[in-house]
Amino acid sequence: MKKPGFLIIIAGPSGAGKGTVRKEVMKNKKLNLVFSISLTTRAKRKGEKDGVDYYFVSEKKFKDAIKKGDLLEYNNYVGNYYGTSKSQVEKVLKTGKNIVLEIDVNGTKNVLKAFKKKDVISFFIIAPSIKELEKRIRGRSTESPSAIKNRLKMAKEEMKVRDSYDYVVVNDSPTRAAKAITKVIKNAIALRG
Ligand code: ADP
Ligand code: 5GP
Repeated sequence: MKKPGFLIIIAGPSGAGKGTVRKEVMKNKKLNLVFSISLTTRAKRKGEKDGVDYYFVSEKKFKDAIKKGDLLEYNNYVGNYYGTSKSQVEKVLKTGKNIVLEIDVNGTKNVLKAFKKKDVISFFIIAPSIKELEKRIRGRSTESPSAIKNRLKMAKEEMKVRDSYDYVVVNDSPTRAAKAITKVIKNAIALRG
């Protein structure tokens, strides 16, 4: 039987660059990474694809998924629901591949309750400064001014728990941040054998 894969968590404030860095890390096919496509009730942003970035669902469908026990974890993040598909995670881990969860700090806490520490690698991505974070969120031009304000408020709360993650990665450049993450994953795979 194949050894189960690692569950890799990428968290951090909105705008820190989680998605950008994750996509960079996933270019390396040798790492055997599969992205966990979450369900969300938030509106699709320009350029996002259903079934690629997220499964964009109605609140009714999301609540049905909760009721049916389909979600490994879920949270309401500044007004929208986000959740991880349990079956997707289980399927990927069983094949020996590693699953990448891009989730918030609340989701992290809940996932850690369900998995053994040795099977999880957690990263917390930060921008070099709050000023730079704000610049990135505004520069992305995907949220309304009030949503940006809420996300920045949330960022300050999220930053308080960054030391509970295995690694804090400063995203000063996506390639440098991706390199640091890749090194950790490669080492973990090599040690597991
Ligand atoms: P998150 O997934 O954490 O919300 P994104 O990956 O969407 O963040 O990045 C937020 C914005 O910052 C995007 O416009 C992205 O292109 C930009 N960005 C990401 N990393 C960097 C970086 N190292 N330097 C400058 N801009 C960056
Ligand atoms: P965004 O709207 O910027 O895509 O995501 C907002 C926040 O929700 C980010 O912190 C993101 O990591 C988090 N998120 C995305 N998917 C999930 C999920 O399935 N569960 C949880 N708990 N958070 C998620």
